[in-house]
Parts: sequence; structure tokens; C-alpha cells
Amino acid sequence: MSKKHKQQHKRQQRRQQQKLQPQHKQQKRQVQQQQQQLSAANISAVVAAQQCTGCSACVALCSDHALSMQPNSEGFLEPVIDEAKCTHCGQCSQHCPVLKRQFAPAKLAQAVRAKGLNAQGTQQRHTEHAGFTQRYLALNLKPDFKALYGSSTTGVGFVLAHRFVRAGGVVVGCRFNAQTQEAEHVIARTVEEVVQFCGSKYVQSNKHEIMAQTLELLKQGQKVLFIGTPCEVAGVKALCSTQPAEVKARLFTVDLVCHGVPSPLSFKCYLHDAAAELGAIRALNFRVPHPQTKNWTQPVVVVQGEAKRLVQPAAQNHFYVAYSQSWSLRPSCYHCPYTNLNRPSDLSLGDFWGIEQLVPKFPYALRGTSMVVVNSPRGVQLFNSLCNHIRYGHEVPAATVLQSNYALHASAHEPTERQLFFSTLQQQQSTVAAVNTVLATRQAKPS
Ligand SMILES: Cc1cc2nc3c(=O)[nH]c(=O)nc-3n(C[C@H](O)[C@H](O)[C@H](O)COP(=O)(O)OP(=O)(O)OC[C@H]3O[C@@H](n4cnc5c(N)ncnc54)[C@H](O)[C@@H]3O)c2cc1C
Ligand code: SF4
Ligand code: SF4
Ligand code: SF4
Repeated sequence: MSKKHKQQHKRQQRRQQQKLQPQHKQQKRQVQQQQQQLSAANISAVVAAQQCTGCSACVALCSDHALSMQPNSEGFLEPVIDEAKCTHCGQCSQHCPVLKRQFAPAKLAQAVRAKGLNAQGTQQRHTEHAGFTQRYLALNLKPDFKALYGSSTTGVGFVLAHRFVRAGGVVVGCRFNAQTQEAEHVIARTVEEVVQFCGSKYVQSNKHEIMAQTLELLKQGQKVLFIGTPCEVAGVKALCSTQPAEVKARLFTVDLVCHGVPSPLSFKCYLHDAAAELGAIRALNFRVPHPQTKNWTQPVVVVQGEAKRLVQPAAQNHFYVAYSQSWSLRPSCYHCPYTNLNRPSDLSLGDFWGIEQLVPKFPYALRGTSMVVVNSPRGVQLFNSLCNHIRYGHEVPAATVLQSNYALHASAHEPTERQLFFSTLQQQQSTVAAVNTVLATRQAKPS
């Protein structure tokens, strides 16, 4: 090519590039805009579709502090975006467990095709712990932690946390804060702090800054045991999925088999109702075995006020009735993705209902039996820390735990009374009034 031709060719190339550049930039900008719209809208879409579980992971993932958890009209905390601060980076929506799960079926189908596996098998042993055999146990612990500290089933949660702090780790769990009158997740570094976690608080806990704090501890080299509902465990794991393997390896998780979480508003209103009779509420336990029969299938609720103490059969306690009838649950709980044995944690804990029929001759059955599912090699480490405390243990097949626990194969059914419950609660700011209104309407209906 002559010099003249070369120059002509270069000029032509430059002209073409100049023509292309704005188009290329425009396309890039369009893609960016689409991504931005998607990223910001997705979290809002999860909330709008009432699928948000309130895990708070997205808030911790947003380094621009554009997200915060705010109570909605039913009192459930949900993420709200401050558009002025949002840089549309997409971090929140990329890791939100609800949005991630929407892509899971496609990924699963891909894995099935690639490896020639059967779908059921793959689903059960999800990628993270492939090859690990899940184990199912019925357990009763030696010292009666249930009686000592008010644990809900047999105190497996307490012993795990106790052993973990004794071994130098920290535990993130849920306590009742008498000052703010709410359940909240906090960090425990001592056995005394772990005692506050004993007993199920049947309400959605406030996670405050706990997700970000958990991640910070892990990054600093601390071993952390996180205990919570399956969606909370999924949240903390989603947050940690952004970290290097050595950080993730320090996180141990325990999930609770879960019927659903009542609204913090219904809890606050109930405490307000109770305080009128008992004085400011200092402590409460929703699952104390019956004082005479000691039978755990007929629990009583104990509410300790400044002036008086209420001991009432759970079936007559207004807050417990709204919870057990599923009137006060978070909308996402009616479509819970964790009602199966595909658990998000290393170890799952629950109640072994019907143990006396399912495992005849199981001793101490009426005093309460824990259901434990070991889901991963780290779950084995956690389980081993229980060994010195087991009074009686029995390994069972998967079918037996499924038979025992309804919450392992179906979500709570959304009752028609839910709307009436919440509208009354909102108007009267009283859980007692809301429950009484629903019960009165039920009685008024012709049978
Ligand atoms: C909202 C909720 C619903 C549940 N539904 C069922 C069910 O349907 N079927 C079933 O078999 N089991 C259910 N459980 C689990 C069961 O009540 C016991 O928590 C479990 O068997 C462990 O008992 P434990 O005696 O070993 O633990 P404990 O020694 O009593 O320790 C309890 C642990 O639970 C954690 N915790 C307490 N309240 C909350 C909360 N609100 N949110 C997150 N973590 C909390 C504490 O941090 C503590 O580590 C539910 C628990 C909760 C909190
Ligand atoms: S990350 Fe958790 S809190 Fe945030 S939108 Fe998803 S489910 Fe809701
Ligand atoms: S800045 Fe990023 S992480 Fe924060 S809300 Fe916007 S898209 Fe989500
Ligand atoms: S029922 Fe499911 S969505 Fe609701 S709190 Fe429990 S684990 Fe989360």
C-alpha cells in the first residue's frame, strides 16, 4: 500500500470510529441504564410482591447506605431505597436470597442435564455440600436446660452457643430487649450473654446492624455461630458469599424449623395490652411446660411484669393464638421456600412432635424432644460439641422427621381472617382487641 493510500485508509478508519463511538457509547449507556433500573427496582419489586423475608442482607450489602429497614403498615421491617444515594451498582439485587432463588430452578435444570443426575437428588444435596449425607436425630439433653434457662425444646440451641463461646467464638442470636420491648439479634461473647437467647421469641427479630457486624467479625478472623430462622441464615450466607473462602469458612450456621414470624407491631401491642395489667414487661417465655403435668405438648405462656406475673395456657394467650392461627405472620411466610429438607444452614433444630408414636420407647418423650438435622461437615463439628450433654439420642430416617414436623413440608396457610386481624390491630393498636374481633366474627358465622 502506497503512503497516500495508507493515509487515506487511516482517515477512513478514524471516521468510522468516530461514527461508531457515539453509537457504542449510547449502547453502553443504555445497558447501564437498564442494569440500573433493574438493580434498584428488583429490591423494590421483591418488597412489592410481598416476597421479602426481611433478612436485612441487602442493607448490609449496600456500601452507599442507600437502603434502610423501615416498618411497613403491618409493622414488618422491609428495605426502603433512598434514590438520591443509590449508585445503581446492583449489589443488593445480585445477592438478595429471594432474587437468587428465582434463578435457582434454571441452574438446577442445567446441573441435572450436565451431570445426568435426578432432580430430586440434586435438590436435596444442593451444590454447597454435594456428597455429604444428611443425618436426622431425635435428642434429649442431660442437664435440663429447658428448666434452667427456659429453652424452648431441650436447650440444644443453648448448649451449641455455650460450647461455641467457650471455644473462643462469638454467637449471634435473638434476645428480648425489655427496654425497647422488641426481639433483636445481638452478639454474645460470654455464657451469660448466651443465656438471653434461650427460648423461642415468636416474633420477627430486629436485625439492626447485625448482618454488617457479623461480616466484620468474620473478616477480622473471628469464628461466628449465627442462629436464626432459615431466611435469616440465607441472608447472612448471601452476604458472606461475596467473601474469600477463608472468611466464609469461619461462619457456622444453625436454622430453626419455622412456622412463620408474627409482626413486631402485634408483639408490641400485645406487650402494651399486658403491661396495663402486669406493669412494664420485663421477661416472657412462650413455651414453658405445663406446671402440673410437665407435659410440653400443653405449654403455658409466662409473662413477667414489674408488678405481676401472668401464667396462662398458650391456647388462651392472645398473642400466641394469633401466631398459632397464622393471623399475624409475615406475608412471605405463607410461601416459605424452607419447608423442606434442603436446609440453608449447617445444623437445623426443631421439635420432634409425636416422638412417642414415631419412635416408641423413646425415654423422656413428654418432657420434649429436639429434632436435629446435620446438613454439612461443619454441622458435624457443631453436633460433636453436644456429645457430652446428650441424655438420649436416636438416629431416624428422613421420612420420620418429615412425618413429625409439618413445617418441613408445607408453609402456613394464609387465613381469610388475616386482613381483619391487621385492620383491627392498626385501628385499635391492641392485639387482644384484634384477636377478640376475629374470634367474635368466627362465632357469628352460621356453621
Ligand atoms: C418464630 C419461630 C417459629 C418456629 N416454628 C417452629 C415450628 O413450626 N416447628 C418446629 O419444630 N420448631 C419451630 N421453631 C423452633 C423451636 O421453637 C425451637 O426454637 C427449637 O426447637 C430450638 O429449641 P432449643 O430448646 O434447642 O433452643 P433454645 O435453647 O431455646 O434456643 C433458641 C434459639 O433460637 C433463637 N431464637 C429465638 N427466637 C428467635 C427469633 N424470633 N428469630 C430467630 N431466632 C430466634 C435464639 O437465638 C436461640 O439460639 C420456631 C422458632 C421460632 C423462633
Ligand atoms: S435481601 Fe432480604 S431484606 Fe433485602 S429484599 Fe431480599 S429478602 Fe428482603
Ligand atoms: S447503591 Fe447499589 S446496593 Fe445500594 S441500593 Fe443502589 S443498587 Fe442497591
Ligand atoms: S416461615 Fe420462612 S419466610 Fe417466614 S420467617 Fe420462617 S423461614 Fe422466614
